[in-house]
Amino acid sequence: MDQRDRPRFAVDSMLGTLAKWLRIMGYDTIYFQRGEDVALERIALRGRRILLTRDRGIVKRGNCRSILIRSDQLFQQLTQVIKELGLELRGEAFTRCVICNLPLTPMEKEEAKAKVPSYVYQTQERFVTCRGCGRIYWSGTHWKKMAERLKEIIGAHG
Ligand SMILES: [Zn+2]
Repeated sequence: MDQRDRPRFAVDSMLGTLAKWLRIMGYDTIYFQRGEDVALERIALRGRRILLTRDRGIVKRGNCRSILIRSDQLFQQLTQVIKELGLELRGEAFTRCVICNLPLTPMEKEEAKAKVPSYVYQTQERFVTCRGCGRIYWSGTHWKKMAERLKEIIGAHG
């Protein structure tokens, strides 16, 4: 699956955590904190995005490609999306800002020095940053745990 074939998502306001996890997996995902159904449909359609929603009415109307998310539980939501679309966890994970949805860019270790805690600077070699919000990411234990969780989900349904 090359970059062009990777699904892109538009996610409704009920599914913020799911949106965050899709970004962690490297999927281009826009998230609506609020908005009219019609606007969501229009944005999804225009951006050729798959709309993930808890709203049965949107799915029924069929104005854009959409998936009705059945569960309230993040784990089950992710499993549903991964399974229905056959998503894989590959090198693209952890390449996108969880907050802004922008691709992350590599950052020199020296450049990160003044901006991260010193134990992080001392123990990490690779840093990436978001040019949108300025957040700096590194492969710490938090992300490792998330990656393990994702592998579990995908392993169970791959
Ligand atoms: Zn950002």
